Amino acid sequence: MSTPPLEPTLRHLENLSQTLEPNFAERALVQTAVEQYLQTFLTQLPTLPSYTAQPEMGGGLLESPIAEEPVPVQEALQLLKTQVDTPGLNPASAGHMGYIPGGGLYYAGLGDYLAAVTNRYAGLFYSAPGAVRMENMLLRWMAGIIGFPEDAAGNLTSGGSIASLIALATARDAHHISAALIPKAVVYTTAHAHHCLDKALRITGLGECPVRHIAMDAQFRLQPDALEETIAQDKAAGFTPWIIIASAGTTDVGAVDPLPQIATIAQRHQLWFHVDAAYGGFFALAPSGLPTLKGIEQADSVVMDPHKGLFIPYGLGAVLIKNRQQLAHTHHYQANYMQDTLSATEEASPADLSPELSKHFRGLRLWLPLKLHGVAAFRSALEEKLLLAQYAYQRLQELKSFETPVVPALSVVIFRYLPSEGFDANTFNQRLIRAVQVDGRVFLSSTMLGNNFMLRMAILSFRTHQTTVDLALQILQEKVLELEENWQE
Ligand SMILES: *Cc1c(COP(=O)(O)O)cnc(C)c1O
Repeated sequence: MSTPPLEPTLRHLENLSQTLEPNFAERALVQTAVEQYLQTFLTQLPTLPSYTAQPEMGGGLLESPIAEEPVPVQEALQLLKTQVDTPGLNPASAGHMGYIPGGGLYYAGLGDYLAAVTNRYAGLFYSAPGAVRMENMLLRWMAGIIGFPEDAAGNLTSGGSIASLIALATARDAHHISAALIPKAVVYTTAHAHHCLDKALRITGLGECPVRHIAMDAQFRLQPDALEETIAQDKAAGFTPWIIIASAGTTDVGAVDPLPQIATIAQRHQLWFHVDAAYGGFFALAPSGLPTLKGIEQADSVVMDPHKGLFIPYGLGAVLIKNRQQLAHTHHYQANYMQDTLSATEEASPADLSPELSKHFRGLRLWLPLKLHGVAAFRSALEEKLLLAQYAYQRLQELKSFETPVVPALSVVIFRYLPSEGFDANTFNQRLIRAVQVDGRVFLSSTMLGNNFMLRMAILSFRTHQTTVDLALQILQEKVLELEENWQE
């Protein structure tokens, strides 16, 4: 039996697969539709709600299954509009002041577009020297912002959680925390540390490390004396103090732990000093933020999120490790099929400093906006956010019936309404936040401080300005009145 010739089949398959390469006219058609979609989105954005409750929660997407046949771009964009870009939280809106707001700079989107279409492979210096140089240059720029040395190393990650994972894995290896040592290797932090650090400890195999939640002061900052005391007790009891995890901007209240004092303690006891600055780190660019972050330069590792403090769309965190050998030691590898890449060492390759091999060329989504806007615009926006938090704090204090227990260190304002007698404060504030969220013009979130249900206004979107804060305060007062007038147990 003779095998049939391959050529006709190949020609047939080639014809079919060529639709994956649209021609100029086809590209222009889809591109125009996408750009129009975005222009409409941006034009309407100031009037779009920050939160939209929709009962089916995007379920209509499932009625259009992934199928063999293509659909027209308008149909795809219609699905996107109704099923994805409408229900839930609208993080692009100025009124998003919940959790820690993200950004969504337009030029960052164009950076992603360029990176995706050209598809440079940014994992290795050998394959994309310019892309790797760009990412390392951005990391050196960030290191400069927080006062780290030139030769610190780092990695652009998908976010703060993965960045924390890299930092903790590095700290584990640098301090030789072997399996046998884990039950005795103590972690010092506060109850307000971000949960991604607990998660990172667990994923890095360190879930059995004892964790000490050090007491906080009235402003929810770690108390250095209590830290010192706990370390001494642990040493006396035969534990091995290993790492201090401090926060430079907690999610709950935006507190910055006393970094200089903590650094001194870390040095005295030879502990790894990690600073979670995922939210707060880039405030070092702002004149009023820099003094607040003093001491961060003494850390061994720092995490900061450009998708928070630099207004980049979701998907960009960063880790910086002061001692580059330690980062490389934990993450480098060798494989026979990578042998061509070994000679190119002028710039460290992201693949040698992170768990990733093939990766998104994340640098471009940050580089392009930094180049096109200039750093001064970011500095001003960050300074504005800090002052807006002071402004919101002052206005809330003037409103009397609102309690504001924490002076904002950065841009989170925490408060609650103190209802008149006969109302339960926690129930009242739960209903208040619900009413604000259902209203949808702005989005605020809540947390607990001890047993108290608290509301939070987190000001970080580049689109949030004084009018947004004024609107939020106006809505809060409206809702308070409505609740008091229509109260039912
Ligand atoms: C957001 C945040 C994280 C987690 O970072 P992701 O980018 O969401 O993964 C960690 N710590 C703090 C203080 C944060 O605000």
